[in-house]
Amino acid sequence: MSSSFAGLGLSESLLQTLDACGYKEPTPIQSQAIRGILQGRDVIGAAQTGTGKTAAFALPTLQRLDRHDPNGPRALILVPTRELAMQVDENFKRYGKETDLRVTLLYGGVGYKEQLNDLRTGADVIVATPGRLLDLWGRRHLQLDKIQVLILDEVDRMLDMGFIEDVSRIIRLCPKERQTLLFSATVEKSILNIAKWALRDPVTIDARAESKTAETVEHFVYPVESYQKYDLLLALLSKTDFKSILIFTRTKRDADRITEWVESTSNSVATLHADRTQQERSEALAGFKSGKYAVLVATDIAARGLDVRGITHVINYNVPDHPEDYIHRIGRTGRASTEGTAYTLFSPDELHYMRAVENLLGKTIERRKLEGFKYRVEPMMGDNKPGSQPSTTPRRRNR
Ligand code: AMP
Repeated sequence: MSSSFAGLGLSESLLQTLDACGYKEPTPIQSQAIRGILQGRDVIGAAQTGTGKTAAFALPTLQRLDRHDPNGPRALILVPTRELAMQVDENFKRYGKETDLRVTLLYGGVGYKEQLNDLRTGADVIVATPGRLLDLWGRRHLQLDKIQVLILDEVDRMLDMGFIEDVSRIIRLCPKERQTLLFSATVEKSILNIAKWALRDPVTIDARAESKTAETVEHFVYPVESYQKYDLLLALLSKTDFKSILIFTRTKRDADRITEWVESTSNSVATLHADRTQQERSEALAGFKSGKYAVLVATDIAARGLDVRGITHVINYNVPDHPEDYIHRIGRTGRASTEGTAYTLFSPDELHYMRAVENLLGKTIERRKLEGFKYRVEPMMGDNKPGSQPSTTPRRRNR
């Protein structure tokens, strides 16, 4: 495995850009993926966000496209959410700034005018969510017949969000002769099924950290009865020395309620969930990134894959109902070798979900009791009561 970017075959100009970004050496997924992608190989990459996977696919793609071509987009990156689309777009623009390649961002929930203008000026790279892409394709505003590199990012989440048909259709709209890169935090059967028909002789790369959670994140579980979660959350906030904190909730309603509570403690707080308008979502995220808001309360769907620097703490108000989401959520902190802390509030009714998370991690997460907090019922510090087997695939709860 190469420990320098230069050894991976990247061009001099990209090496300079990486130097300017302050990247000293490639992350494991970058070391493993870049050379193969430069050679035109298809790739299945098992990697969660925070591993540097965006650069792993963006850098070689930019190098392969080389320069602007007015004949139509040659690279397409499909992502599940608008926020991730913005982030991937930003990355492509940052890494490609020494080139004349044009990157266009397409997502729903906003007007068409700007996106149509961008398309008219000629895109080389398109970063899109599936719905808006098909919408624009259906109205003949773009063609996919020149696509050479198709990148499917966070495929597990795209499937989870019900995009399977849209994604399959888009893959079929691209030329057969193309390079396809598939990234997903989990590579389960449904994903391998897509890989079977959409990819050709792929290289498989597993860049999930050994423990499967970033080593720079300390994480703890706070057992508490569900009716005391609110009090415990506020007590934790008041006792935690944080710079910026991301709170995950299961439902949009919880996100709204917690935002109100946190506001009442005079913390600056913003909310991110699917019922907010795009403008509100963008404002919340920008404000959180700039430090205007110290606290961001978000549902998992809205926040998946967000790359915000300097998040010191993550709090899960609920144990995630999909165990992989735990890794995603706590991966929001401790990014790219800074340190972070994650807390999960865990009530007895969530025992199945907690077991599924620990099964996936292959270890028990340390239980903690908050000193000075008035627990009405003694918290369950060791929860692995004898009885039912841990469930690895818990039923999805309504969001
Ligand atoms: P990603 O997993 O693509 O969301 O990337 C996570 C974060 O790591 C982003 O903020 C990147 O800018 C940063 N990053 C990516 N590659 C490197 C690298 N080789 N060295 C340092 N930071 C990096």
